[in-house]
Order: sequence, then C-alpha cells, then structure tokens
Amino acid sequence: MPLSDRLNTEIDARREDLIALTQDLLRIPTLNPPGENYLEICEYISNRLRDAGFTVELIRAHGTPGDSEKYPRWNVVARREGNRPGECVHFNSHIDVVDVGHGWTKDPFGGELIDGKIYGRGACDMKGGLAASIVAAEAFLAVCPDFSGSIEISGTADEESGGYGGVAYLAERGYFSPERVQHVIIPEPLNKDRICLGHRGVWWAEIETHGEIAHGSMPFLGDCAVRHMGAVLEEMEENLFPALAQKRTDMPVVPEGARQSTLNINSIHGGQSEGDEDFTGLPSPCVPDSCRVVIDRRFLLEEKIEDVQAEIKDILEDVEKKRENFRYDLKELHRVLPTMTDKDAPVVKTVAKAIAQTMGKEAEYVVSPGTYDQKHIDRIGKLKNCIAYGPGILDLAHKPDEYVGVEDMLDSAKVMGLSLLELLAKP
Ligand SMILES: [Zn+2]
Repeated sequence: MPLSDRLNTEIDARREDLIALTQDLLRIPTLNPPGENYLEICEYISNRLRDAGFTVELIRAHGTPGDSEKYPRWNVVARREGNRPGECVHFNSHIDVVDVGHGWTKDPFGGELIDGKIYGRGACDMKGGLAASIVAAEAFLAVCPDFSGSIEISGTADEESGGYGGVAYLAERGYFSPERVQHVIIPEPLNKDRICLGHRGVWWAEIETHGEIAHGSMPFLGDCAVRHMGAVLEEMEENLFPALAQKRTDMPVVPEGARQSTLNINSIHGGQSEGDEDFTGLPSPCVPDSCRVVIDRRFLLEEKIEDVQAEIKDILEDVEKKRENFRYDLKELHRVLPTMTDKDAPVVKTVAKAIAQTMGKEAEYVVSPGTYDQKHIDRIGKLKNCIAYGPGILDLAHKPDEYVGVEDMLDSAKVMGLSLLELLAKP
C-alpha cells in the first residue's frame, strides 16, 4: 500500500482519539481576556507530545501585555527531529479562546459530541485545528518513522488579543526564523478546502476634538467638542466612506464584502462620563470640552500605510478649514501591515496538492479580512512561507454554539499528514 493510503488509514483509525483530544482541549477554559489556564493547557499538550517522542519547551512570555503572576502567558513549543537533516514543518495554534457571550444552548466548556459535531468555545477557533495537527503528526510518525528534517507543534497564547505574549514573543526569540523553521501552517478555521494566504492591514487611531467647558444653559459661552466631532463624522460620511468603497483589491479576501478598504468607528465618547452604575442622580449640565473616537481602518496590499494616515489627516484638515475654533489631536493606537504569501510558495503548493488529493477538488485561495498570527511570523520572524489552513467554518468563530465537525477534522488532518509526507518523507 502506498504511504499516503497507509497514512489515511492511520488517521481514520484515530477518529475516537481525535474526538477525545478535542474534547479534552475544550474542557480547559482558556478564556482571553484575562488569559486563564494557559499553563494547564500547555502542560496537557506537552504530555501528549512528549509521549509521541517530541522534545518540549514551556516558555512564559514575561512582561508582555496581560502577563502577571495570576495570569502568566505560557506557550509550548514541541519539536521532533527526524533521522537526517532536512526542512522543519511547524504547526502553530493559539490556545486562547474569546469570551463565551450569550445565546448558548450547549455547555461552552463541555465538549459535547452531537451528530458528528463537537461543541464548545474554541471548537473551530481553533482547538479543533490544534487537535487535527497533533493527530496528523502522530499518524505521520507511525507510517514514516524514518524521515528527514523535523516537525514542530506549538500552542501559543494571546492570539485573540494581538499575539504579543504568544507568537510575537517567540518570533523575537528566533523560534520562527528561517534558519530554524522552513514551513508554517496555522490551523485556523478557514474551511478544509481553502488555503488562507494572508490578511489585510490594520490601522487604529484615536481622534480627539477639543472644546471649552461652560454651563449647559449657556452653550454659547463654551465650545462643544461633540459638535466638532459631529462635523468630522459628517465629512467622513460624505467623502471618506464612498471613497473607501471604491478601493477594491486583487487580494482574494473572503467574505466578498471585505474585498475593499473598510473603516469602522469602534467607539465614541464625549462630555461627562455617565457615572458609576450605582449612581442614581442626574449628571450636571456642561458643554463638553473633549470628544474622542477610535477608528479601525482595514487596508489593502495595494495601499501604503502613509496614504491611509494621510487620508484621515486630510479629512481633519478639511473640517478645520470650514469650522471656527476647530482643534484636534490624532494619535495612532495600533498598526499591522497587510501580508500575503505567494501562491507559488512551497507550503502553498504542498498543501494545495494535498487538498486536491484528499478532497478531489482544487484548493481555493483566500485572504482573511482580519489579522492573525501570520503577521508576526512574517514581520518579526522574516518567514514568508506561511499559510493558515485548518478545519472548521470561519463564520462560527466567536459565535454561540460554536462547533467543529469530526469529518472536517479528519479530512484536514489527512491534508496536514500528506503535506508532511511530501515535505519530509525523503531518503
Ligand atoms: Zn483563531
């Protein structure tokens, strides 16, 4: 029997094990924020992979955002060397999950299996992908113990909050340098027949308009910062949003609506705060002297970050020309440049071939509207040969009754296992 058939048989035989592994991972609530039970899940993954012959390192990202004695940022990196030198294939999964939220009909940390679906927070995003990569690697080792190069599997913290205590921390310490790792697969839930090549860019900024405080009964004695901000928002409605809708991209972003530049106004605050929840009095009447908005601009490979910034500056300068006493500040909060791996990159070609072989259809190439840890692997690690590929339906991520399908996990484990065969089963 060819190795690929033996691998598929091995993976099918591990169905119950794959289910149990996914359930175990889901039953460790790794909510972020605040970043709970990271050590517990890292130890669980360590024990599992040590049994499979991996050398395991637990790494705490000391001093990164959110790291404290109560909520330490733990990561696990496991490596299994082959018998000869060769390339390293790395599977990177984040271990954190987002808040549960309302509307669940299943136990979010129960890992219930119903009609071939495993339910729980993080089932598709992305403990199902982590479990599939572990089973894929173990099945590969069973059918091909004499291989070249190495396999790495990591479980990393804080992806949902920027990845600074996870992949960024490891990348800064050389864990994703091209000398150590040659291929990276991130099993995020992008559907089992799609390869995600990268993501759009992000620019967050805070705009503050200034006014002058005065008695609310005599607003003409002050200067209302909220009205100034109203003018900014109006300028955006008239001139910015229509212009952004015209900026289309050649990046294959899904969903289709995100195949352009977008802007969200994340928040707006002006005037006095509403007071504590238990305060039952009325607020006093004042003219607001400050109003702040946080904007979330998502940009394209075809756009430069300088142009994205200049566009907002232009809007503010246009308002400045029209309004008396218009004063503002503009402050950058966060930036991530867009990234997209070439379709001809070795990891892309390998996984595409494995998808065609497993699913009997051509792989689809997509780009994510939001960012994920690939940004750190690209920018800090300087490793371009990286994709996201994993089981699960992207639309279910962060929603109530999140689940991952068992068949999907098996299929994507086969794709991952075949990719290992292609890259590492060399004499
Ligand atoms: Zn994710």
